[in-house]
Amino acid sequence: MRDFDFLEPTTVHEASHMLADLGDDCRAIAGGTALMLGMRQRMLTPTHLVSLGRLPQLRGIEFDEKNGLRIGALSRHADVAASAIVRQHYPVLASMASRVANPQVRNQGTIGGNLCYADPSTDPPGCLMALDAKVVLGSSRGERVLSIEEFLVDYYVTALESDEIVTEIRVPAPVADTSGVYSRFLRTAAEHRPLASVALVARREGLLCREARIAVGGSTPIPVRLRRAEAFMEGRTVDENTVNEVADIVATDIDPVSDTRGNADFRREMVRVVARRTVAELFGLNDPLQEGTAR
Ligand SMILES: Cc1cc2nc3c(=O)[nH]c(=O)nc-3n(C[C@H](O)[C@H](O)[C@H](O)COP(=O)(O)OP(=O)(O)OC[C@H]3O[C@@H](n4cnc5c(N)ncnc54)[C@H](O)[C@@H]3O)c2cc1C
Repeated sequence: MRDFDFLEPTTVHEASHMLADLGDDCRAIAGGTALMLGMRQRMLTPTHLVSLGRLPQLRGIEFDEKNGLRIGALSRHADVAASAIVRQHYPVLASMASRVANPQVRNQGTIGGNLCYADPSTDPPGCLMALDAKVVLGSSRGERVLSIEEFLVDYYVTALESDEIVTEIRVPAPVADTSGVYSRFLRTAAEHRPLASVALVARREGLLCREARIAVGGSTPIPVRLRRAEAFMEGRTVDENTVNEVADIVATDIDPVSDTRGNADFRREMVRVVARRTVAELFGLNDPLQEGTAR
């Protein structure tokens, strides 16, 4: 690995200036789980790393009934999974975070780093999209607040400008009668990253679906909202037929990638399975067809 200088700013303003001044020769570093792999493989050869570890503004997980949840970008996956606040108010988010990667990565990798790397085979972006989360970007020029859809632009591409860092993630306060389920499919148990994932957050009264937000991740370059499936569910009493129909709409409306982990047809079928399982679980129904190994 190439030698580099390790810079430790203590304010967002200072970090932003460092990133702007050093340009392409420099990278921000949080937990380092993605960045160090890239550097060891010499895909990235920065001369300077700007550590975010001393920026207090990026720490902490807080909640209030009016503004909802604030997760500092430096929160590790394990912090999100273990947070009493997250577990109480957003159990679907805690459940998702508890399944990311493996214990080593969960205890080192941060939620901010996960979003900024924009790897499509990851868990938080789809779940956060279904929760209508926002990403807060800070720089010496001020602050921008983007939806997940605005932040994730393409395969490994985000809306971050070169002098910006993600400071926090905000999730709106939960509305009464809302619950969520996050499901993922792993091709093999040894492979940590999801091949397909579905997040569903819905407001319901028993089997009546009042409102739904569905996002698919893992199989598409960036997570996508499935608005036609959401509209189909809303106002409908969900039964096993509905579960199948929603899963079919979801599978039809995505544009999956083809790569060495799975071609587009395989991914579409796995998304259909995971979607069916997710909708059935949220409404307390049996999965009409049992197959695959999601967890
Ligand atoms: C073996 C393995 C298995 C994995 N499995 C999964 C999985 O199952 N599910 C899943 O979701 N993820 C998985 N991951 C990915 C993991 O979640 C990410 O590597 C991790 O969250 C990245 O966070 P980090 O703090 O380590 O980022 P870093 O490696 O420090 O940084 C990653 C990138 O983001 C930038 N960056 C980091 N923080 C910020 C910030 N606040 N503002 C601006 N830019 C920033 C860095 O410059 C760098 O380009 C896996 C990773 C590994 C190594």
